[in-house]
Amino acid sequence: MKKYLEVALQAVEQAAQVCQAVQAQLVAEDSLTKKDRSPVTVADFASQAIICKTLKEHFPEIDIVGEEDAQSLRQSENSEVLNKIKQFLPGWSEDEILDSIDLGNGEPGSLFWTLDPIDGTKGFLRKDQYAIALALLKDGEPVLGALGCPKLPFAKGKSQGTLMYAIKGQGSFTKPLGADQAHQVHVSGNEPHDVIRFLESVEAAHSDHSLQGKLMSHFGERAQSVRFDSQVKYAVLARAEAEVYLRLPNPAKPDYREKIWDHAAGALIVQEAGGKVTDMFGKPLQFNHGKKLIANRGLVVTNGKLHQKIIELLNRS
Ligand code: AMP
Ligand code: MG
Repeated sequence: MKKYLEVALQAVEQAAQVCQAVQAQLVAEDSLTKKDRSPVTVADFASQAIICKTLKEHFPEIDIVGEEDAQSLRQSENSEVLNKIKQFLPGWSEDEILDSIDLGNGEPGSLFWTLDPIDGTKGFLRKDQYAIALALLKDGEPVLGALGCPKLPFAKGKSQGTLMYAIKGQGSFTKPLGADQAHQVHVSGNEPHDVIRFLESVEAAHSDHSLQGKLMSHFGERAQSVRFDSQVKYAVLARAEAEVYLRLPNPAKPDYREKIWDHAAGALIVQEAGGKVTDMFGKPLQFNHGKKLIANRGLVVTNGKLHQKIIELLNRS
């Protein structure tokens, strides 16, 4: 696992640097709209190119299931976006960029990587939170997870971002992006009668804020809602800055199913920090059904101590 971790962290660090550079000078022309109407930016593409190229150099036999592909970039009408990516990847040819992005077109198998080069692209565009999320899955379970969180301060008052990682059975760790000193993290010990910080998406369409609010109201004034984009929510819970992350399905989108790259890294990081991750019915996440979590609905992530209570309340409502 050591070699996998070393390479994964190096790749995420490099991608995080480029994402920060793009976000600092972001303009409207830096993004395209995908078929599902969601945005994708110069940084999503550059991040996927860097990470896929690095992973394939070291582990050519392991498939990568990435969120993006280079199809739209191969069309001449999007040459401006491709040119912009080149500016952030000096020395790379166009073919190298396009082909590296498409190294992420692999299929889930018994051992594969899954990558969200920028999770929370809408947050990234607002200059808010986002994460670079990479996980290694073996026999349908995440065994390594890494989250680069450039906008999540490593410590209060510091501008340096955060890197979190976990290996199954070995705990969760954090370090500042661009530095070496890692330390282990553990979830909060708060119980149902303590203050409970609830994490939710910023984007209203990604969950059911109304039902989540109803559930929180059960805890009266002890409940606090904290909204972040992306898997930064898992990182915040793993380092004991929140107790619960609710992601109940948006009733307006009944057919939506969660994607594996939106949860594999974060879920392992929370579990290895002592927390619990299930769907809204208390069922473990099943990562062995392809690119989507088709066997699960909604998500409940807690520090463990709150889990049973939240599931009970939900199944009563
Ligand atoms: P967040 O910032 O936590 O809301 O998560 C961002 C992710 O939400 C994106 O990567 C999308 O894949 C995902 N997403 C898009 N639409 C939905 C939806 N209807 N329900 C849940 N997640 C969604
Ligand atoms: Mg995502």
